[in-house]
Amino acid sequence: MVFLEEAHGQTRNLSQNETQEEATKKEGKGKEKVAKAQGTGGGKMREDCIFCRIIEHKAPAKFIFEDEDCVAFWDIHPIAPVHCLVVPRKHIESLADADLSDKAVLGALMLGIRRVAMELQLVDKGFRTIINTGRLAGQSVFHLHCHVISGKRFSWP
Ligand code: AMP
Repeated sequence: MVFLEEAHGQTRNLSQNETQEEATKKEGKGKEKVAKAQGTGGGKMREDCIFCRIIEHKAPAKFIFEDEDCVAFWDIHPIAPVHCLVVPRKHIESLADADLSDKAVLGALMLGIRRVAMELQLVDKGFRTIINTGRLAGQSVFHLHCHVISGKRFSWP
């Protein structure tokens, strides 16, 4: 699947004398400001949270996109030919922990899902979105995220 390979690659342009690390830092700060202005920022980064660490580029991931509100990257243990995660930058433990002040974050998450579907050309194929909430439902990472899976026929439930 060509689109998978394309999406796995990450490109960025560095200005003269700028290291990758410096560029990443600058970009991160810019995104933080925009996110705060839009009401999708806030929520302290947690060193003990793997998704916070990925968002901050302190842990590796294969990114599909990053914007001021969300990031999307490939799941490390895929359960379908396409399996990625869309994660808001704000650390919210689960959907159950979101509140009225997170309206913009939740909206941005939905649009992040749409963006992934467009970028990976999943719209014609169809795709499923899953948010596990709580251990009994299978949540294992306690930073709100949505799974996007596609590339095969799914049964229900
Ligand atoms: P959940 O079980 O709904 O909390 O989903 C967590 C997902 O995160 C699982 O599908 C894991 O495979 C995935 N995951 C955990 N650590 C990483 C990581 N470092 N990079 C990418 N995906 C991860």
